[in-house]
Amino acid sequence: MAERTLEADYVIVGAGAVGMAFADTLLTDSTASMILVDRRHKPGGHWNDAYPFVRLHGPSANYGVNSRKLGSDAIDPSGLNQGLHELATGAEICAYFDRVMHQRFVPSGRVTYLPLRDFGEDGFVTSRLTGERAQVRARRKLVDATFSDTRIPATHPPGYAVADGVRCVAPNALAHLSEPFAGFVIIGAGKTAMDTAVWLLEQGVDPDAITWIRPRDAWLLNRRNVQPRFEFFADTIGAFAAEMEAARDATSIDDLFARLEAAQLLRRIDPAVAPTMYRCAIVSDAELEQMRRITRVVRLGRVSAVEADRIVLEQGVIPTSPQHLHIDCSADGIPKKPAVPIFQGARIVPQIVRRCSPTFSAALVAHLEATLSGDAEKNAFCVPVPVADEPLDWLRMQLADARNNRLWSQFADLRRWLFRARLDAFSGMISRANAEPTAARAEILERYGLAIKPGLARLSELLSQAG
Ligand SMILES: Cc1cc2nc3c(=O)[nH]c(=O)nc-3n(C[C@H](O)[C@H](O)[C@H](O)COP(=O)(O)OP(=O)(O)OC[C@H]3O[C@@H](n4cnc5c(N)ncnc54)[C@H](O)[C@@H]3O)c2cc1C
Repeated sequence: MAERTLEADYVIVGAGAVGMAFADTLLTDSTASMILVDRRHKPGGHWNDAYPFVRLHGPSANYGVNSRKLGSDAIDPSGLNQGLHELATGAEICAYFDRVMHQRFVPSGRVTYLPLRDFGEDGFVTSRLTGERAQVRARRKLVDATFSDTRIPATHPPGYAVADGVRCVAPNALAHLSEPFAGFVIIGAGKTAMDTAVWLLEQGVDPDAITWIRPRDAWLLNRRNVQPRFEFFADTIGAFAAEMEAARDATSIDDLFARLEAAQLLRRIDPAVAPTMYRCAIVSDAELEQMRRITRVVRLGRVSAVEADRIVLEQGVIPTSPQHLHIDCSADGIPKKPAVPIFQGARIVPQIVRRCSPTFSAALVAHLEATLSGDAEKNAFCVPVPVADEPLDWLRMQLADARNNRLWSQFADLRRWLFRARLDAFSGMISRANAEPTAARAEILERYGLAIKPGLARLSELLSQAG
């Protein structure tokens, strides 16, 4: 079969949230042409395979690509997110990215979209339908928008053995069940497991019919503190101030987390259990209340096998039965791995440069690519923020975040870009508070200003004491 060659200024591998946000900003801030390759049939990456009841856990207002709103900036009038910014469903996110691709990217004439193509490191793409191969050549740079290596239950089978006859499904199957079960066993401790627990309860499942295998407990972010509307200034920017005050006054790591919890900046499902995990999961008070209704929680480490009548874990065995449905939520989400430089000559590897903000980060990296010259300068502007996994990562993320924010605020072009960026909730809020001062806003900004330097210094000390 003849092999074609396709050429563009940038070849972007991955049309997930990160590749889409990067391409969108490059389209706005440059005249470059792009080839966008993905092995999936639609843009949106992992969202295409997510369970049907998935939603964003942070506001839609700050998710997606910079140029186009996701959702309508509404405040949810009812439900578990009542009073807070709307959270797009998985279906809404996929439809949104599809519209961005077909109403903005492709009609621009500067983006060639190659879905259902595997990109190989030899620079060839192979069609998953026809097997046709084509060479894709980047005149300027290859953008690897696959670094996050997202793992979800629908695409990543469990790492434990499942005996024949045992019913063990990804949460995707739950909406299609047609028979009752004696009970449900949720396997996993992350956001997918939390969503599954809350969804089962919302459907009327008795909490005592749910067993929740949680190898680790997590610190969770309070959704009220990440609201981007100006009316939430006291919650959102007040949380920044309170975080730095807690850091400044902390006498130890344990004391820091106690202070963060007392200020309701971090939450946990069970106040009696010390969390050993932190992965940026965001919850509302109502969701937390729901999860606390489940009291059959198994903390015996990871599952190694699900057999017909028992589940074998690292530290013990519990009974189960063929009449139980086991729901696998054990996939790693976004696995932790060492950061690499973002700008690497002919290659760009977008990573998170603001905590828990993958699409903002990708847009910012694209803006730097379009407006600065020289990898050293670009890399200096965006040190990757570590992927979150354990509680100490909360400290590491704060420090990396603060370092990047400090640098960005010193440059007029970046400041202007941040103030206008839809994906940046916070810069615009702070500038508006300065432009429309009130005593309450001034007090919060003053507290933040006073606490930030000693707070960050204390976080550094605590981290080095922790080794
Ligand atoms: C359940 C869940 C909820 C989340 N909620 C939020 C939230 O509320 N707010 C928030 O900010 N973030 C949230 N995130 C994280 C965030 O949305 C992004 O999902 C994350 O950064 C991953 O996006 P991505 O584009 O890097 O990866 P992916 O979505 O995995 O996309 C990567 C794409 O690259 C393609 N690809 C990989 N290798 C190749 C190859 N060799 N050839 C061709 N194509 C390839 C894949 O097919 C895939 O489509 C959530 C994540 C999960 C899992």
